Amino acid sequence: MYSSRLEKLEIYTFKDLLYHIPSRYEDYSLISSIATAQQGELITIQGDITATKNSYTRSHKSIQKITIADSTGLIDLVWFNQPYIVKNFLVGDSLSVSGKVDLFSKKLTIISPEYEALNGPRIHTGRLVPVYPETHGISSKWLRRQISLLLPQIDKVDDLLPLSVIQENQFISLEIALKQIHFPDSLSSAQTARQRLSFDEVFFIQLLTQQRKKLWKTVKRGRRLMVTKKDMKIFLNKLPFTLTDSQLQAVTDILADMENEKPMNRMLQGDVGSGKTVIAATAMYVAFLNGYQSAIMAPTEILAQQHFKTLDTLLTPFGISVGLSTSGTKIDKTIQYDVLVGTHALVAKSINFEKLGFIAIDEQQRFGVAQRGILREKGDNPHVLTMTATPIPRTMALTLYGELDVSYLTEMPKGRKVIKTWLVPEEKRASSYEWMERQIRENDSQIFIICPFIEESENMATVKAAAIEYERLQREVFPNLRLGLLHGKMKAKEKDTVLTAFRNKEFSLLVATPVVEVGIDIPNATTIVIEGSERFGLAQLHQLRGRVGRGEKQSYCLLFTQTSSPQAIARLRAMETISSGAVLAEFDLTMRGPGDMYGLNQSGSRMLKIASFSDFNLLEKAKKSAEKISDNLSSFPELESVIKNQLLDTVTPD
Ligand code: ADP
Ligand code: MG
Repeated sequence: MYSSRLEKLEIYTFKDLLYHIPSRYEDYSLISSIATAQQGELITIQGDITATKNSYTRSHKSIQKITIADSTGLIDLVWFNQPYIVKNFLVGDSLSVSGKVDLFSKKLTIISPEYEALNGPRIHTGRLVPVYPETHGISSKWLRRQISLLLPQIDKVDDLLPLSVIQENQFISLEIALKQIHFPDSLSSAQTARQRLSFDEVFFIQLLTQQRKKLWKTVKRGRRLMVTKKDMKIFLNKLPFTLTDSQLQAVTDILADMENEKPMNRMLQGDVGSGKTVIAATAMYVAFLNGYQSAIMAPTEILAQQHFKTLDTLLTPFGISVGLSTSGTKIDKTIQYDVLVGTHALVAKSINFEKLGFIAIDEQQRFGVAQRGILREKGDNPHVLTMTATPIPRTMALTLYGELDVSYLTEMPKGRKVIKTWLVPEEKRASSYEWMERQIRENDSQIFIICPFIEESENMATVKAAAIEYERLQREVFPNLRLGLLHGKMKAKEKDTVLTAFRNKEFSLLVATPVVEVGIDIPNATTIVIEGSERFGLAQLHQLRGRVGRGEKQSYCLLFTQTSSPQAIARLRAMETISSGAVLAEFDLTMRGPGDMYGLNQSGSRMLKIASFSDFNLLEKAKKSAEKISDNLSSFPELESVIKNQLLDTVTPD
């Protein structure tokens, strides 16, 4: 039971548990006598139980009350609906109790305090107490207990950081760092511990990255895929638009890579709508001319379907056959397509390629390195292009993807207008709806309405909320317009049907969960309304906003919010004035920290668990150290063997 819950926190091993780092600490270090306790104080009280009582309210809820006394007085502790608490304790037991002093029935009381036996170790009270990222059924209290049991054994944890690096940076030992990050003596020693552990984290990522890059460089068995200027011209002339300068530059980079025996390993970064798909199509065309197949992997079914349509349109005129393989679309495995479009299923299923020469991976941060490796193994050292719209700041790109070459799309296709963005307070909701109706009737526009994730992912609560909103809008707000509903729990076929209908203008408004976040391309949809916008990271809002502004018409983004927090509003206001994803990302990095920025908490996995991307100094230091060590890794045999093993796990190019 616990193991599946722990998986939600990405805890699979004792080591993961040990590295489950507190998000903050509750300061219960003030030990007070009962007589001097003040309302509102966070304190610890130590005393003996004088009475325990379990009673019921009129609504049949139970209340547990324990009274404790020290030499100066009495105070009540109260819990709700936790009858086991009174059973666990006897009058006369000595307790250490921490919490906030409150008034309850006009008496000083601590409601739902932390507590533990006075004669045991101090884990939950009387100190700086760690508060952890939690999930349903795994509380900080549970984690504290487990981790405190683990910590005495950690002298067995190998400190792999070379001694020279430890000394240079005057780091504390790994053992002390792990003990202090969980149960610190003071906030400053927690900070010192965090620095040591953050450094370790970045150092190892860097070391791996650099070793991977080295390995990649030694591979010589790739295929040289060439194209003549004339053939390239034929292709570009057939496109329905002219490429922008930065698209052309990216194509040049990619063609140069593909001509090389060393397989391409490049990342294409471009803001939403900057036109990355056509770049992948160009590489596919080149692979085809050389007699090789291509594959493109998309993060969702919807996107795979869309890529399929786009690529089919672009490539069929050249006699290139395009197939689609997702979990919802059965594919004839005996047919060898020139280009295969798919989701993860492409990796998981036993699809084999006769001659795979080029792989494109869309929205790469959603895939693990391992998954990319498996797909890569299906070919004979194919060229790999990963595409992402996430405006990864440079420091971050270097840290995470140091082994990749990068091309940036720095401009939008011509004729695009800035998407007008407004933060809409609740009192303007009604007039906004009128404005939307006019947009639809007078400008023949279509509108997305995005409901937020209710919990951390696309679960039933989220789907239900979207369905209720859809009903409400249809019945109360737009009774004379046609609405559609799209959410992540729908089958691929259903989703496709809804999107196709929307594209064909069969309805004017599409109510959706944030599944439309990535990549959907419907040029006639010119307005996007985002409900509960304060619940999204700016980068995610920017991605969502990128669903509109794809045609020539003026587009709009309306951010609805009910928050009154000045900070949240200031953050959202940035959307009104900043239209570049990269600038927004930097802004959000300073406002909220990187975890939320990419909506990664919502997709479940964070790239850095301890270190912060805004800590440029540390990133730079760790990178430099890793570079030094990387050059003579063999002098550190233990470190070398760990790194080698991890390299195997993440699949190398040969
Ligand atoms: P993204 O980079 O977000 O994946 P897409 O590849 O989906 O963007 O392209 C967005 C839209 O822009 C598509 O409709 C595509 O056909 C169009 N497009 C791409 N490049 C150009 C260009 N150079 N000029 C005009 N339209 C373009
Ligand atoms: Mg895309």
